[in-house]
Parts: sequence; C-alpha cells; structure tokens
Amino acid sequence: MDKVADIDLDLYSCLQCGYCKTTCPAYDQFGWEADSPRGKIFFLKRMGERGFFENRKKRDHDQSFYETLFHCTSCGMCDEVCHVEIKLSDVWEEVKEWLVGRGMDPLPGHKELMKRIYDPNKRNPFFDPNDPEKDFLDKRGRWIPEGTKLSDNPDVAYFVGCTAAHRMQFLAEATIKILQAADVEFTIMGPDEWCCGSPLLRTGLGDKVKEEYVQHNINEVERRGVKELVTACAGCFKTIKENYPAIVGYTPFDVYHISEYIWKLIQEKKLKFTKEFNKKAVYHDPCHLGRHAKVFDDPRNVLKKIPGLELLEMPRNRERARCCGAGGGFKIAFNEQAEDIAADRVREAVETGGDLIITPCPFCVVNLNAGAKKAGLDIKTLDLVQVCEQAL
Ligand code: SF4
Ligand code: SF4
Repeated sequence: MDKVADIDLDLYSCLQCGYCKTTCPAYDQFGWEADSPRGKIFFLKRMGERGFFENRKKRDHDQSFYETLFHCTSCGMCDEVCHVEIKLSDVWEEVKEWLVGRGMDPLPGHKELMKRIYDPNKRNPFFDPNDPEKDFLDKRGRWIPEGTKLSDNPDVAYFVGCTAAHRMQFLAEATIKILQAADVEFTIMGPDEWCCGSPLLRTGLGDKVKEEYVQHNINEVERRGVKELVTACAGCFKTIKENYPAIVGYTPFDVYHISEYIWKLIQEKKLKFTKEFNKKAVYHDPCHLGRHAKVFDDPRNVLKKIPGLELLEMPRNRERARCCGAGGGFKIAFNEQAEDIAADRVREAVETGGDLIITPCPFCVVNLNAGAKKAGLDIKTLDLVQVCEQAL
C-alpha cells in the first residue's frame, strides 16, 4: 500500500501559516507543536525526506509521533481554515491506515474496538460482559417496542446505528415515533445491520470495513426494496453518505440524516409539532453532520418549528462550531482530554444563556453530558429526536 505517497502535494503545499493550529481542539489539549495540524504536516514532510514513506520496517517508525497522529477528533476544523485547501482530515486517515498496514500496533482502545466490530458475534463496538444475554447480534433489533409495525412494503430503511441500538435505545424509540407520527412506511435491518464502520475508518483500521461491511450494509438495505435510508447518528450519516460511495462507487438509495428527513416531512405537511417545549436551547453542530456533510440549516429549521422553543446560537457555530471532543476514536483512546474539550463547549453554551443543549448526534450527547459533569455545570444535552418526540 503505497498510496500515501499521494499526499506529497499536500505536504509541500503547506505554508506553515498556523491557522489550523489555533483552531485545533486536540492541540489545545496536548500543547506540543507536533500535536497541531501544522506540526504534523511539518513532521511528515521532513520524515518523508528521510525515507519515511518507503517500505520501512515497523521499528523504524517513531512511536511517539505515531501516537501523536491519533491526537485528533476528526473534527475537520483544520480543513475548514486551511487557505490552501489541504484536505487534512483525509491526510490523517491515509497516514494512519498506511502505518497500521505497515505493522504499527493500533492504540489499545482502538484495538479493542476493532476486535468487537470484526467479531462475527458482535459486529458492533460495545461489549457487556455482565449481560446474561449473549446473543448480541439478535439483541441489535430487540430494542424495538412490542407491537411496533414494520412495513412489508417500506419506503424507508431506518439505519439505527450501534449507539442507539445497543446503549441509547430511547433514541431509536424516539426516532420511530417521529416516523410513525408522519405515517412513514419504514423498516429496520435488526441483526442484519452491522456497524457502519466509522470508528475504524477514522483510526486506520478500516480494511475489512472496505472489503466487507460497506457492501454488506448496502446489500441489506437494497434487498428491502427501499429508496431512502434514514439515520439519526451523525457519524453513520457521514460514513454512509460520503465514505460508502467513495469505497464501492455507488449507493442505490438516498441517504438522509433524521434532521433532514424531519424537515422534509414538515415541508410536505406530513408532520407537525403540537406540544409546547418551553426552553431556551443552544444548538450544537456535530462535526460529522455540519462541517463534514454541510447540514446546518435543516436541524435549526426543525427546532424553530417547535412551539415555545427559543433557539440560541453559540459564538462558534455552523462551519466554525467547536468540536465536542468525542469523534474519530479520540474518546476511547483519550477520554480525559475528550471530556475537557466537551467541558469547554458546554461552558460556551452556558455563557450563551441556554438552559439546555440540543444536538442531533448520540455521541455528542454522551460527551457533552460528561463534559458538563466534569465542569460542574448544571446543563443537560438532549438529542434532537428526544425534543421532537416530546413536541409531537
Ligand atoms: S481534524 Fe480537528 S482535531 Fe484533527 S487535526 Fe484537524 S483540527 Fe485538529
Ligand atoms: S492552515 Fe493549511 S497552510 Fe496553514 S499551516 Fe495549516 S495546513 Fe499549513
């Protein structure tokens, strides 16, 4: 695998201006120049000149710099500010994948993730050793409330995602209540839905995702005859919408984030919020939905339709929104720093005057709540689908 050589142009385009450094949440945490995007580019360029990208043995690679490459939440802020338009988050993924392919050991947390996701009896990143129920594959569809009618002739496949299927089932229940309220003919894949692969693609461990998981998930959606896939997870959304077609060349259905889909249903007059939700809420843009996939307006439009809800904007919003710290496999490897990044974001929400944070991503919900707890701040983060469900 020598394609990492393609990044030469990126490495030599860098002006070392440092715009990316001042906006990088990982650099804020670790503080060394080598942790910043600029520092990583500089280091890679110099190492390249010394033959780093040639077919070297594992021991020739510098371990501490290797780990530094994982000091990154995949937030995409460096892409956003780089004025020579280097697609830095792609560079990080390429280099990580190349190094792992050269035999470098994954970080311990990422190795565990890989073991679980590639385990044919799990296919998801979670593990619950005390759960008497050993059949995790079957469990993936077991959250669905008794009596729920799945369509025999569905228009939509709801891709639940690992977090909602295995840990935050209330989000999956809220999502299907919204679809039911608009009489959407939908189905789920249950145990046929495998992890979308996002955490492994971000950490250089996505070889089997590319070889097997992407095609499997596409086939499972396709064989249900649907034309639309809806997911309420920002990470699954970016992965299925952007990475899947890049990997296999096609997706035979339209991919929607639930916030886009709800807005579509509202515009088609199939969904209306009737109950009041009297809160001053601050909206947090998930990086994978906002900066990466450019979905900024639809979730805001949806929230503005909820009676009683006053929507506030943090100073860092939309393209310049601050990351919550959870993405890119960062939380599992560096939880302390991930929660500190979240605490910083929660402080911003409090200073904005919100009494609640709303975001359309389960991962952001978990980490922002952890950040609030760590900072001793009395403010909760709810997922957009929870708020919409309450307003139906
Ligand atoms: S993607 Fe985000 S965390 Fe990673 S290097 Fe760029 S700015 Fe830093
Ligand atoms: S913003 Fe772009 S050009 Fe400037 S230091 Fe970062 S990578 Fe280099």
